[in-house]
Amino acid sequence: MRSRRSTRVTTLFISDLHIDAAQPAIAAQFLRFLKADALAADALYILGDLFESWIGDDAADAAQSAVIEGLRALTGAGVPCFVMHGNRDFLLGERFAAASGALLLPDPLLVTLYGRPLLLMHGDALCTDDTAYQRLRATVRDPDWQRRFLALGVAERRTLAAAARSGSRAHTAALQYEIADVNAAAVEAVLRAAGAATLLHGHTHRPAMHAVDVDGRACTRIVLGDWYTQGSVLRWSADGHDLGALPRPAAPNESGTARPAA
Ligand code: MN
Repeated sequence: MRSRRSTRVTTLFISDLHIDAAQPAIAAQFLRFLKADALAADALYILGDLFESWIGDDAADAAQSAVIEGLRALTGAGVPCFVMHGNRDFLLGERFAAASGALLLPDPLLVTLYGRPLLLMHGDALCTDDTAYQRLRATVRDPDWQRRFLALGVAERRTLAAAARSGSRAHTAALQYEIADVNAAAVEAVLRAAGAATLLHGHTHRPAMHAVDVDGRACTRIVLGDWYTQGSVLRWSADGHDLGALPRPAAPNESGTARPAA
């Protein structure tokens, strides 16, 4: 265990990095973030979609392995790291956790940090207006489906995942803006069930702080942004919280600045 210094008073939250070999600037920024901001934090929470795709703990590519090494260095230095599944990396498993030193979190999860309760989610479960996606989510989160998928060979899993991503892109492109966002009643229901006043999630790539009324209670929904063009970070401390972004240095060899869907 590291010795706790009084300067470590902030917990960091990020999500939707979508790290992928085709977008090296994102992984590079994340690895710098791990060695600087994260190393000085009390803890790091990654609320889903750390990776653009994850077909099993036995199939990490070089970009993904570099991220695991970076997390290993952070956790090895004594900074706890917590990872929630996203809709892209819902197959992150115990071998990933052991290799990275990160702890996998259930979704939703109520935590209390510096005396303040905070409800954490990836956010895809709140998008209940997208009924086709919710049916898909129920299928791929089923343990039997996951066991069958993970029993396939790596090449076959890669092919199936690529087909699923292109189907997902077509589906998301056809959705109305409102349908792809969270459902207000779903947000109220999770805040009511948890008895929390603050919900933090990612997934929609629409960074913001929203005031939400739940049965007359003033609540807040904080939405993390993605890392396609910037590094969205929420800093949570005893003094309050701040949703900001790490600027991305220009990368002339980056393959475009398009913002793929959540
Ligand atoms: Mn997502």
